[in-house]
Amino acid sequence: MKCPYCEHSKTRVIDTSHDTRGGTRRRRLCDNCKQRFSSYERPILATPMLVKRDGTREEFSRDKLLAGIRIACEKRPVAATDIQRIAGEIEAELQQLGRAEVKSRQVGDQVIRKLKELDEVAYIRYAIVYLGLNDLVAIREEIDQLLAD
Ligand SMILES: [Zn+2]
Repeated sequence: MKCPYCEHSKTRVIDTSHDTRGGTRRRRLCDNCKQRFSSYERPILATPMLVKRDGTREEFSRDKLLAGIRIACEKRPVAATDIQRIAGEIEAELQQLGRAEVKSRQVGDQVIRKLKELDEVAYIRYAIVYLGLNDLVAIREEIDQLLAD
C-alpha cells in the first residue's frame, strides 16, 4: 500500500486488528518518511449479474427482489422481517455461488421455494407473476401440486 504522505510504495504493517463486521484495520509505517497511517480492509462479496430470459443482463437489485416478494405477500399474515430475511438469504446464496452470472430464473425459483414454506397464497401469487399469466397450465400444475402436498 502506498504512503498517503509521500506516495512511497514500501510501507510496513505495525499492528493489525479485526472488527466485528469482518473488517481489518492495519496501522502502517512508511519506510521512507516514517509517517504512520491506518488502512481498512473489508471483504466485498459480489452478487452475480442476472441473465434474463431474452439474454439481456441486469444487475441484481435487492430492492427489486423485495418489491416482488412484498407484492406477493400483500394482505397476507407474513411479517416484514420474514420478507427481509428471505431477500437477505437469497442474496447471500447468490453471492456464495461465486459466479459472474446466473439465470434470473434461478432467483425466481429460490423465491418460490422460500414462499412455499412461508405462505401458500403468497407463493401462488408469486408463481403467477413469475411464470407469467400466459402459462395457465404451469400455474394449474403448481396449484395442483400444492393441494396434493
Ligand atoms: Zn511516506
